[in-house]
Parts: sequence; C-alpha cells; structure tokens
Amino acid sequence: MRIAIIHNHNKKSVAVAQELRALCLKNRLTLEEKNPDLVITVGGDGTLLSAFHRYAHLLDQVRFVGVHTGHLGFYTDWRDFELEELVESLVKDQGESVSYPLLDVKVSYQDQVEEAHFFALNESTLKRIDGTMVCDVYIKDEWFERFRGDGMCVSTPTGSTAYNKSVGGAVIHPRLEAIQLTEIASINNRVFRTLSSPMIVAPNEWIQLRPASEDGFILTIDQLTSSEKNIIAINYRIAKERIHFARYRHTHFWSRVEDAFIGAKHSHEI
Ligand code: NAP
Repeated sequence: MRIAIIHNHNKKSVAVAQELRALCLKNRLTLEEKNPDLVITVGGDGTLLSAFHRYAHLLDQVRFVGVHTGHLGFYTDWRDFELEELVESLVKDQGESVSYPLLDVKVSYQDQVEEAHFFALNESTLKRIDGTMVCDVYIKDEWFERFRGDGMCVSTPTGSTAYNKSVGGAVIHPRLEAIQLTEIASINNRVFRTLSSPMIVAPNEWIQLRPASEDGFILTIDQLTSSEKNIIAINYRIAKERIHFARYRHTHFWSRVEDAFIGAKHSHEI
C-alpha cells in the first residue's frame, strides 16, 4: 500500500503529520505522494476537500482517511491521539471501504467547443455578486423556473451539512444517491416567483442552470472559486465516479450531525 499524508499548515497538523509519517515508516508502510492508493489527511474537512481535488484524477484507485486536529468532521474519523491505532489498522488493511456520491459538473461556454468538467465533493454554486443573478432552471431538460436572487447551490449528500445547510437545505444521509438544489436569497414577490424550497432530485435526473446574461458570475466547486463569463449552461448530475474512504471504523452519520451542530451529548444537557 502506497500512502500519501497531506496536512494543512496549522502547527498541530504539521506535528501530527510528522508523527504519523514516522509511525508509518517504523511499520514498514510505503510513503508515496505522487501515485498513492491511500491518502491520509491531517486537519479538518477543508483539508480533505483539498486532497480530494489534488487526487481527483486517481478516484478509481485511491481511498481516503481523515485525521482531525480540531473538531470531529464529516470526512474525518480519527483523532490526533489515535495515530497508533490508525497505523495498526493500516498494517492489517484488507481493502475495507465505503463510498459516497460525487457531483458531476459540466460547464458549456459560448466561445468554447469543449465543456469544462469538474467533480465536487461538497457542492457547486453559481452566484452573481454585482447585481441580481437571473438564470433559468431546467430539470431533465424541461424548463422549471426563472430564478432571480443571489445564486444557486447544488450539493452532494456529504456536502449537505456544509454550505447547503447554511442556505436552508436539508441534511441528507450519504447513503442516498441524490443531489439537492438550494436557493441563495431568491426574490419572491407578486412579479417574480421561484419554488423557494430546497429540491432533492432523483439519481437519474439532472439539473441545468442557464444564466440569462453573459458576465458577472462566480462559479464555485467546493473551495475553488472562479469568475465566469459566456456560460451557456451548467449541467449537474450524480457522477458515475464516487469517493472511497478506507473504513476501519464506523461513526454513525446522525451522531456526527449531532456532534457538529448540537453537541448536547457531550455537554450532558440531555
Ligand atoms: P472554509 O471557509 O475555511 O471552511 C468552511 C467550514 O465548512 C469549515 O468549518 C469546514 O470544516 C466546514 N466544512 C467543510 N466541508 C463540510 C461538510 N461536508 N460538512 C460540514 N462542514 C463542512 O473553507 P474550506 O475549509 O476550504 O471548505 C470549503 C467548504 O466550505 C465549501 O465546500 C462550503 O461547503 C463551505 N462553506 C460554507 C459556507 C457557509 O456555510 N456559509 C461559506 C463558504 C464555504 P473544517 O473546519 O473541519 O475544515
């Protein structure tokens, strides 16, 4: 097994990554950053997102493991004081894994023959910052509504606890194959109308956004942001590819949600 260790630059993560590297070498595990089959991230969910994009071209061969140096995350199962136990699991590894859906994003432009293609682990948003974003929404190629507001967010089940949740989307169990469309500050009055509810579409359905003007758009794919112009359409669907995590232990999804957003179990308030 070839292992890459990726960390963020916070002091604690650097120290934990160093300790993990030493433990791996002591146990004769191979460290290899270019072509790994296991990627261990040390930091938070944001660190795992960065590693996902770094190794997105190796999705069919790579499994991920997250060590958190802050709070329990949605992509991080191990705590920084459990490194010995983690390395023991690596030594005994038998390819255990669990996989989750990804968002497939294809962008077509007026002045380009080829579409741009991305995978998102959390979400992709289309926004306009200097004025109202106007775009048409299609579901399975059928016109659904004309949106006016700040923007739109399309998220994966594992991304449902991230930006999606902040804009009023539902938290979705990651075993469900579904993508969710949420509005960001839509204009709703007697003249302009949108659904005004998050929409969860079925696995065989796709969402298309068609901007009504040429420039001033911001497209995000997880933590990556770009200014866009001349977009004809953005197509969102569940990707054929999935992200695989090495699963040496299981944290119940709803326990994670409780821990992240309520925290009453730890503070003994119930
Ligand atoms: P960041 O702005 O440094 O961090 C955003 C926060 O989102 C961090 O606390 C991060 O957790 C958390 N997070 C990331 N993925 C999550 C998930 N699947 N479920 C719950 N929380 C999650 O940006 P970043 O670390 O590079 O991460 C980019 C992500 O931040 C985007 O994909 C977007 O979902 C999210 N974001 C959210 C908002 C918002 O809620 N208003 C605004 C901007 C971006 P860690 O501390 O463990 O890294």
